[in-house]
Amino acid sequence: MNDFTGLKALVTGGASGIGRATAGLLAERGAQVAVLDLDPSQVPEPLRAWRADVTDDASVRAAVQEAAGALGGLDILVNNAGIGAQGTVEDNTDAEWRHVFDVNVLGMVRTARACLPHLRRSAHAAIVNTCSIAATAGLPQRALYSATKGAVYSLTLAMAADHVHEGIRVTCVNPGTADTPWIGRLLDAAPDPAAERAALEARQPTGRLVSAAEVAAAIAYLASPLAGATTGTALAVDGGMQGL
Ligand code: NAD
Repeated sequence: MNDFTGLKALVTGGASGIGRATAGLLAERGAQVAVLDLDPSQVPEPLRAWRADVTDDASVRAAVQEAAGALGGLDILVNNAGIGAQGTVEDNTDAEWRHVFDVNVLGMVRTARACLPHLRRSAHAAIVNTCSIAATAGLPQRALYSATKGAVYSLTLAMAADHVHEGIRVTCVNPGTADTPWIGRLLDAAPDPAAERAALEARQPTGRLVSAAEVAAAIAYLASPLAGATTGTALAVDGGMQGL
């Protein structure tokens, strides 16, 4: 099940949270894994890491080229690097809108563009984008973030259509609130982090947050040859947030 022996994967934002759990799981299942991140200094072996800023096309191209060279090709891209934003349309400036779109949407476009020539040479090519339930759930106080993830969702469908005939599958995973350092930082900024966490957990149908490992398992499935007939679709890992 989910055997990645002989496959080569690149994970953006793989130094923390969902990306780190995914990179670790793919490596555990036999893949050779390259992490691209703003700060790859804490990435543990056997993962190999390169510094790249997904808002900088030259940095992405250089890191992808080096990583693909070191691994001897690429079969899987996990487009995962992303940042959050809170507020209504009245709260975020144009500069903030441009920046979050630059990271969350264009970052994935740039990385995909750099990886596609390598993926075309693979017999099991897959791109998995980390989207969010925010793409379709209509969450309050998340106008900018939700708009970026809506774009990631549409991008996933369009890319799936564009690349299906060259054997490249494109899917996305839609996590609910996942217990990662990002959410930890949000909770720490609240006046009472423990009460805030309890309130957040109470809003989940399962009564708990999704774990990074659970999102990683879904990404690994979508990236694996087992999902060979699956493209242009989203897999929710949200504790039932949207469905119940
Ligand atoms: P995280 O902050 O723990 O990890 C994000 C990683 O991305 C970090 O290592 C960071 O250095 C890297 N990164 C950020 N900007 C970058 C850039 N410009 N270039 C390269 N790397 C960059 O966050 P996480 O919770 O693991 O989130 C990962 C993905 O999951 C994001 O796309 C996020 O939108 C999505 N997501 C998270 C949740 C959640 O509740 N945690 C829910 C739905 C979707």
